[in-house]
Amino acid sequence: MITRGRRATLKACANSSFLAWNAEGDIMDWRITLSDIDMGNEEIEAVDRVLRSKWLTMGSVTQEFEKAVADYVEAKHAVAVTNATAALHLACVAAGLGPGKEAIVPSLTFVATANAVRYTGASVVFADIAGEQDLNISVEAIERSVTERTRAIVVVHYGGYACAMPAILELARRHNLAVIEDAAHAIGSELQGKKLGAWGDVGCFSFFSNKNMTTAEGGMLVTSDDALAERLRLLRSHGMTTLTLDRHKGHAWSYDVVDLGYNYRIDEIRSAMGLVQLGRLDRNNRRRREFTRLYRELLRNEAPQVTLPFSSHPGVSAAHLMPILLPPGADRLRFMEHMKSRGIQTSIHYPPIHRFSAYREEGDAQRIKLPITEEVAARIVTLPLYPTMTDENVLEVVSCAAGGILPKGC
Ligand SMILES: *Cc1c(COP(=O)(O)O)cnc(C)c1O
Repeated sequence: MITRGRRATLKACANSSFLAWNAEGDIMDWRITLSDIDMGNEEIEAVDRVLRSKWLTMGSVTQEFEKAVADYVEAKHAVAVTNATAALHLACVAAGLGPGKEAIVPSLTFVATANAVRYTGASVVFADIAGEQDLNISVEAIERSVTERTRAIVVVHYGGYACAMPAILELARRHNLAVIEDAAHAIGSELQGKKLGAWGDVGCFSFFSNKNMTTAEGGMLVTSDDALAERLRLLRSHGMTTLTLDRHKGHAWSYDVVDLGYNYRIDEIRSAMGLVQLGRLDRNNRRRREFTRLYRELLRNEAPQVTLPFSSHPGVSAAHLMPILLPPGADRLRFMEHMKSRGIQTSIHYPPIHRFSAYREEGDAQRIKLPITEEVAARIVTLPLYPTMTDENVLEVVSCAAGGILPKGC
């Protein structure tokens, strides 16, 4: 049995903004939350050192964090930003998206993937996912969606599982399209020995609090294109040619503004935390994969009517999410209520973007094209998965889930 108490309280505090408060503002006492942060004294000490140094805005710690992430994914450049949504926006700007242009995007993702395209004035064209086993964007659906206005493909490595990158890059080359990787779930994932995020023209990582590593809020762009990296650095900070740090060090007295930039900078506090979190990443991703294996083994035996996406997927996954598909006709709401009544938090990744009010125009026109997304989105449930959970937690989730799958109206 899982004990409540101090750990649960700490967890509730760490995740208070998105996990542990219910609609009435009370702290929900989940026995097993959907996700959890692995964080210790090292993060606190690293943040403390920055605060005492009194250099808080982007400086040498951020440069160190960028170099560490670039080395980790084996890309030439990394550009840290305030969150992955900002990273995606800058990637879309740098890809030349704007009014009259189109980007091809999956609908089964977080809304930020599509919003980033729309910030530029470009249109979102949704492409269907590959199937119940592969929840990533379908290469054939991308091919069908290309028009003379298409400039970019934004792929999302769902749950940390790689998209078909060799085929997508080949297609992009043929049509002269930029490839932007939304790798928010996929830091540490690999395909054919190469890290995700380093496959496309540019990769975007998120360090939001429920991701595989966190800086509270934060993001990073990676690229091996020198000119693109230069442009992204300018766009991150008002299009200005020098940074505060350079002026402070006496390297520069003035600056020019050469582009319409934004203020999307990260800060030293978060970069310091990110450096420590990166050091924990490989071990934590390994644990996520082990729990995923255990989930699959147990679910195959105890709930054989459930579909397990990505069960024989190529590559090494960062295992950000543990999605299952309930059998057709099962009552998902009742399933989730059943889990909740036992103190187990579940979620839905994702309500597809084309169904949101703000996307109705795109959605209505394109819904007909997304039959697999529609089918999967109606049956998908995410089970708890985080590196600090235990085998016993997984056993409990599975035995509870096995008893909670009931057809509608029974
Ligand atoms: C979390 C997430 C984002 C946005 O990340 P932020 O850092 O919160 O802006 C974008 N895309 C996907 C797929 C995500 O899961």
